[in-house]
Amino acid sequence: MITIKKTVTTSYNFALPYVTPFAKYDERVFKNAERRGINKCFWCNEQFYDGQDVYIGFGKGTKNRLFCKKCYEKGLEQEAES
Ligand SMILES: [Zn+2]
Repeated sequence: MITIKKTVTTSYNFALPYVTPFAKYDERVFKNAERRGINKCFWCNEQFYDGQDVYIGFGKGTKNRLFCKKCYEKGLEQEAES
């Protein structure tokens, strides 16, 4: 018997309507953030820290997600190019 591993790539579409941060990340405000999977950037998976600026992307056919500044700016650049 052999095992073949395949990695599935999923595409997600987001609208990025704001250029300013959505909020300052705060563990107390983002209650149960870890369980809800919103304690890290959806794009790069980097964990947020208290006081960090987080940005929101509105999912098209997927949930709204939070992004770090670096990824959000990358997203805005891609959006501008398309
Ligand atoms: Zn990121």
